[in-house]
Amino acid sequence: MTSRSRPLAQEPAMRPSAAPAVPTAPIARARTAAARVAGPLFASAVLCGSLAAPAADAGDLGHAVLAAKDGWASATTGTTGGSKADAAHTVTVSTRAQLVAALGGKNSGNGANATPKIVQVSGVIDLNTDDAGRHLDCSAYTTGGYALGAYLAAYDPKAWGTSKVPSGAQEDARAASQKKQADRVQINVGANTTIVGVDGGTLRGGGLVVKNVDNVIVRNLSFENAADCFPQWDPTDGSDGNWNSMYDAVTVYGATHVWVDHDTFSDGAVPDSSLPKYFGRLYQVHDGLLDVVKGADYVTASWNVFRDHDKTDLIGNSDGASATDAGHLRVTFHHNLWQNAVERAPRVRFGQVDVYDNLYAPRAGSFDYGIGVGKSSRIIAENNAFTLPSGITAADALRNWGGTGLTARGNTVNGAVTDLVAAWNTANPGKPLTSSSGWTPTLRTALDPAAAVPAKVTAGAGAGRL
Ligand code: CA
Ligand code: CA
Repeated sequence: MTSRSRPLAQEPAMRPSAAPAVPTAPIARARTAAARVAGPLFASAVLCGSLAAPAADAGDLGHAVLAAKDGWASATTGTTGGSKADAAHTVTVSTRAQLVAALGGKNSGNGANATPKIVQVSGVIDLNTDDAGRHLDCSAYTTGGYALGAYLAAYDPKAWGTSKVPSGAQEDARAASQKKQADRVQINVGANTTIVGVDGGTLRGGGLVVKNVDNVIVRNLSFENAADCFPQWDPTDGSDGNWNSMYDAVTVYGATHVWVDHDTFSDGAVPDSSLPKYFGRLYQVHDGLLDVVKGADYVTASWNVFRDHDKTDLIGNSDGASATDAGHLRVTFHHNLWQNAVERAPRVRFGQVDVYDNLYAPRAGSFDYGIGVGKSSRIIAENNAFTLPSGITAADALRNWGGTGLTARGNTVNGAVTDLVAAWNTANPGKPLTSSSGWTPTLRTALDPAAAVPAKVTAGAGAGRL
């Protein structure tokens, strides 16, 4: 089995950990490069301005609703998003300030705005911008005397040890700085909202938080590099400790009826391979791409691309969360592409999760596992296609994270129908999985055979394909 550290072990061409510099350096450099590339696109988006009318080329997208029986988000009341929005609440946005205004006015209160609304994101929106549209780098959020060099000195395992998480002045300052950035780059979305990308619609440097609300659609958008300027060191995470970050591209937190469709998720201009290491561990600025947590329910993720990222899709974030999560976290993943993803495609606790007709295309040297079978999970994995390069085996399609078993049928590995549970059990006799999760999905559209999945998903998944 691939060790957890191996996929991330490519030594980045960065300064040695003994000579810490400001944490903003690699991120800021990459952002500058990205801004150059995106220059013309950004400029044209700005010219579009804010239009209080539906754009002719995207009216159907904004008003579309999830079809009946299309995954768990079609359960009970179904998912209609902002399709009932009136003309005044159908808006095209091309800056962070316009996005926040369209979602209700003030980011901190927008989660409570349940007015039906259609928000069309045009071109690239840099979420690290002030209300006047000026780019903010990490230093804009730094507060309380936080400095990476001081943080590293305070929590160096040689000084702090490895038995407890950091606490004290530098950790408090890090958390305060991180919260400042979160208020800026985590965009709150209220109930009855549809957000769609038009003209290359992209959210860069942050993401959407769908928290404790119902009925949200997110389609045809790209999400790039939701990077945390202030990763936290946790020496107790895993055998070697880990740097952990806070922002997902999309967080579904206690929310219901969420349809995430034809979106493209990636680290953009800041791949993990560009990040330094401290204390021998990757200075990870990214968290999840689409995380579904805290009792969220009825989610369909269809036709998305999850690309070039480590922790892709986490369903349930704690083994101890049975009070909120048991009986919830029902999610469908179909026709998604996980391309050069490292892990969590998805990783599931508690949820009844239907994973069918997806394409897995990992890269040798940067892959840990595909589907994570966690505590009390009930996963169906059907008609998925794994295209595995030399060095990755069928046993790596799964990982037992304290689950009992899953239903897996019709899946292929490099074109050959393969019993993924048997492959796992042969390679991992000490952590066997049973071959049934004990339920039968009914909220499905017609399944494609796995043989048709690579071509169909490659041609159809991601933003810009609708
Ligand atoms: Ca971790
Ligand atoms: Ca997360």
